[in-house]
Amino acid sequence: MATGTRTTSETRRHFLRRGLASGALGLAGILSAPAAWCRELAGNLARIGGRIVMRDDVDYPQWWSSMAWYLFKPQRFPDLIVRARSDQDVIAALAHAREKNLKVVVRSGGHNPARAVLREGGLLLDLSRLRDVQIDVAAKSAWVEPGIHGEDLVHLLAQQGLDFPAAHTGIVPIGGYILGGGLGWNMPERGIACRSILAAEVITADGRKLVASADQNRDLWWAIRGCGPGFFGVVTRYKLQLFPLHTAMTKSKYLFPLERLPQVCKALEKVTVEKEERLEILAVVGRFFPPDKPPEERDLVCAVSVFAFADSEEDASRLMQPWTNSGLPGQSLLKVENRVMDYEQLFAGQETDFSSPMRTAVENIWTDDISGALQALAGKMQKEPPPSPRCFALSAWGFSNTREDETSCVHTPAPHYLSWYLMAEEEAHLSRNRVWMDDAVKLLRPMTRGHYINEIDPLHYPQHVEECFSKDSWKQLAQLRKHHDPDGLFFTWLGHGENT
Ligand SMILES: Cc1cc2nc3c(=O)[nH]c(=O)nc-3n(C[C@H](O)[C@H](O)[C@H](O)COP(=O)(O)OP(=O)(O)OC[C@H]3O[C@@H](n4cnc5c(N)ncnc54)[C@H](O)[C@@H]3O)c2cc1C
Repeated sequence: MATGTRTTSETRRHFLRRGLASGALGLAGILSAPAAWCRELAGNLARIGGRIVMRDDVDYPQWWSSMAWYLFKPQRFPDLIVRARSDQDVIAALAHAREKNLKVVVRSGGHNPARAVLREGGLLLDLSRLRDVQIDVAAKSAWVEPGIHGEDLVHLLAQQGLDFPAAHTGIVPIGGYILGGGLGWNMPERGIACRSILAAEVITADGRKLVASADQNRDLWWAIRGCGPGFFGVVTRYKLQLFPLHTAMTKSKYLFPLERLPQVCKALEKVTVEKEERLEILAVVGRFFPPDKPPEERDLVCAVSVFAFADSEEDASRLMQPWTNSGLPGQSLLKVENRVMDYEQLFAGQETDFSSPMRTAVENIWTDDISGALQALAGKMQKEPPPSPRCFALSAWGFSNTREDETSCVHTPAPHYLSWYLMAEEEAHLSRNRVWMDDAVKLLRPMTRGHYINEIDPLHYPQHVEECFSKDSWKQLAQLRKHHDPDGLFFTWLGHGENT
């Protein structure tokens, strides 16, 4: 598949690669007037109201750098970046791509850990400025544009006494998060977020704007609910089911020495069976103690956070009971208990480098044996520490109750979730992280029941993409892609097509 005309000289490309390999802004900051200023835009591009940045524009390096949120970026360079301001911009950009034989990738926020929005050649369609939210309080639903960040959405909803399971880190936009599934706050009660997509507006490869819902274009609706970075269309608005806001969201947090991990896991297994849905349990292994020292001087510990999505103090203490009765809280190194919080405090209260753009390798598994998997990974972190002391592993216990459901392609084949995040402080850490990750993936293979599409590395583990879906859904997605995008306008999952 052609990727459009290459106007960039080799010399310039070498400069770009050298200057931007680690996300530096390069020369762009000191140059001024973009080439687009004096370029006559014609045809479909002239119809676009948003910003157009071409590969030979002087501010291309700056734009390129800001498209993927991570500090370390892959050496893949789109030919053209279009920042859309409206549906009409999206339609015109797709028409231009069809005419010039350019492949298209869509961006909502550029947080995908595989840096899926950076492809070699083609057109990068940036929707990050589409952030409108229209709430229907009586119907408990909202039309939401894909660029809105989770924290901004829950803030707007909370003012109306409403809620939605946004990602645990506030800066993650709704667009890609929900398209890939969405493991959000209070997931045991509210379910995986994509199952709360009531409808969506989609612009298809041929430039038509369709509504996808249970009643219209149901096949597209099914795919939007979990397909992730392999989706074959542009979602410009989601209609979301909203929920009542719990008025006493309560968090307790404990640090345990790593030697206690077997007892912690045993207690959590029991709590997971006994707890109500409104109790969310996250256990994170990382270098967190003592917290007043820099990460390289801290010990590897297990931080258990227990969240009660409660409506009163009594409700919270009842929800917490299976955990408080376990006897474990008394054995912690440090604890902060029963703090009633709003979302702003929940987002701010993470003990890990949750929002660090230094992540370079991320993987995850769904598992039935969360105790075994977490202990195996923690053992590896202790015996062969990854290069950066900021690396951590996160386990979510009894996270997913609903398994299969014919209204969505999302696949949660086991109740527990484990993900781990390798950071890099310097370029040399990248290859060492890769080796560490390969070993970790092998180590956890026997406990793996599947993966979550939004936190995998499809270039290095292409088979993991297929393992994010049931066998039937995987086949069905391939058929739908052929039907809705017969000429392959959209890039598919990284590692699964040409021009990755
Ligand atoms: C700090 C951090 C915290 C995170 N926390 C969580 C968490 O708590 N729970 C969780 O589930 N995930 C979490 N994630 C993962 C997150 O869900 C994914 O990174 C997700 O892809 C981010 O969405 P995005 O809009 O930035 O996607 P982008 O990187 O912009 O897009 C990724 C891909 O999705 C597709 N896409 C995106 N938007 C559209 C659209 N509007 N129409 C069509 N296709 C589109 C494109 O194929 C694109 O290549 C976290 C990530 C980070 C970096």
